[in-house]
Formats: sequence, C-alpha cells, structure tokens
Amino acid sequence: MVKAPVNKIIPFSNVDGPGNRTSIFFQGCPFNCLFCHNPETIHLCRNCGVCVKNCPVGALNIDADYKVIWNREKCVQCDTCIKVCPHDASPKIQWMTVEEVMKEVRRASPYIAGITTSGGECTLQNEFLIELFSNVLKLGKTCLIDSNGSFDFEADPRVLKVSEGVMLDVKAVEKGWNDELISFPRDIVLKNLDYLLQIGKLYEVRTLIFPNRDRENEETVRYVAEHIRDRCFYKIIRYRPYGVREKNRKRIGEFETDLDYAERFAALAREKGATKAYVV
Ligand code: SF4
Ligand code: SF4
Repeated sequence: MVKAPVNKIIPFSNVDGPGNRTSIFFQGCPFNCLFCHNPETIHLCRNCGVCVKNCPVGALNIDADYKVIWNREKCVQCDTCIKVCPHDASPKIQWMTVEEVMKEVRRASPYIAGITTSGGECTLQNEFLIELFSNVLKLGKTCLIDSNGSFDFEADPRVLKVSEGVMLDVKAVEKGWNDELISFPRDIVLKNLDYLLQIGKLYEVRTLIFPNRDRENEETVRYVAEHIRDRCFYKIIRYRPYGVREKNRKRIGEFETDLDYAERFAALAREKGATKAYVV
C-alpha cells in the first residue's frame, strides 16, 4: 500500500487555487532555495535526536529502532523541534495512506471545490498523487498540483490526466541567478512551462520579487509574461523574510519587498501580454 510523508493538511484554504480547497503539504523537496520560508519541509527526518532533547513537553521520543516518534496529543505546537533541527526537517511528519488522506478530504468535502497538493514538493510522491486524485475526482472535486517544476511532466504525464492543472513556480530564468537561488538546474522548470502551456494544464505561474534586484526580477518576469500571455494567471509574489533561515536572510534580504516595487513588475508583465498578472 503506497504511503507518503505528509507535513500537514489544511482542511480549508482560500489561497491555494480557486475556491475553498483542502491543501495537503508533503514532506521533502529537491530544491534548497535560499529564500525558502518553510525549510523544515526540505528533508526527511534523519532521527538524529536533537529535537527530542529540546521538546519542552516530552512529545518526542526515540523508539527501539532509533526512530523519532511524535506524540500528537502531548505536542503544544511550539515548533521548538523545527527551530533546533540541524537538517531542515521536522519530526511531526505522518506517513499516510491514500485512504487516510481521503478521510480528511471527505470530511471537508461539502465545503470545498477541490484539493491542492503542495510541499515541500508534492510531485516526489507521484504514484501517491495519481491514486489520491483518482479518488478525489470520484467526489466531483478538482485536483491542482502546486509544484516547483522539478518533475518532468512530459516524460510521465499520468498525474496530469487526473489533475485540473499545475501552479508552477518560475523562480529565475537567468542561469547564474537561478544557480545562486535554487541549487537545481532551471532547464526542467522552463521545459515544464512550455509543455504545460502547450497542453492547457498550466493554471498559474508564480514568481517571487526580491528587493533591489531590478535586473534579475525583470528578466524572469519578462520571460514568463512573454510565454504565458493571457493563457493563465501570473502571481507576482513579494519576498518576505519570515521563516527564511537566518544565514540566508543576510544574503537575500532582511526586509520584505515593497508593494510599489512589486507592482512595477506586475505592470511590466501586463505590458508584455500577461493580462492576468497580479501582486500578492
Ligand atoms: S512542536 Fe510539539 S514536538 Fe515540537 S518541540 Fe514543540 S511540543 Fe515538542
Ligand atoms: S527532526 Fe531534525 S532534529 Fe529531530 S530527529 Fe529529525 S533530523 Fe534530528
């Protein structure tokens, strides 16, 4: 039975696609973005035990197999474990079956338009997604994939057949800037941008706007806008330092991107044909 590491499930979200949606966040991501604001989702727990010693209420233990066990009932959600983890992980992960996730979806079902899978990077759980989406479709709900673009959708399009579409991050198009930000080749992301557009499965593109990075921001926004035109939404996201690892904040920015500055790039996107560009 296929299982996947689930970081958390938000039963009702209105920021993860159209309408009210259940958002499912999976653990694990192949990127290591400088600006990641939830770095505790990057890796699976290595059972090093550091967090166990720091939990103030004894909600973490090590079992006979040297695995860290989280006690949900005892946990007071102080997030001390996440703050002290040296491996960008969390001990509060649940390995869930599709049926266990479906129980949560069914509970929310009367009030939602669909589900959105996110992360981390949800496409690392491709087989799980295919099974989950097939079940959700039977409820008459839609399924959206929130992705960093690292999965080759053209090589394996099965998940797209049971999904409404993809919300794709395009973080950087210039190679040097991409390599500084992400530690992962950008080619597959740009290939996905073209492929998803071509098959009509691109719901939205998102680009983060960094403070005082005129050239880099402009290059990315211009490239995306000229590609997508009016065929999908373009969410221009202001960089915010909350949750970003301290050493990275020093490199990338201690302050959030000014709204007027971000609006400049949304205006550029619209000028280049991306009529559905907007700032959040
Ligand atoms: S979030 Fe829960 S498990 Fe983590 S340190 Fe706090 S009480 Fe312990
Ligand atoms: S969550 Fe982090 S600190 Fe805790 S055991 Fe796992 S790797 Fe170690």
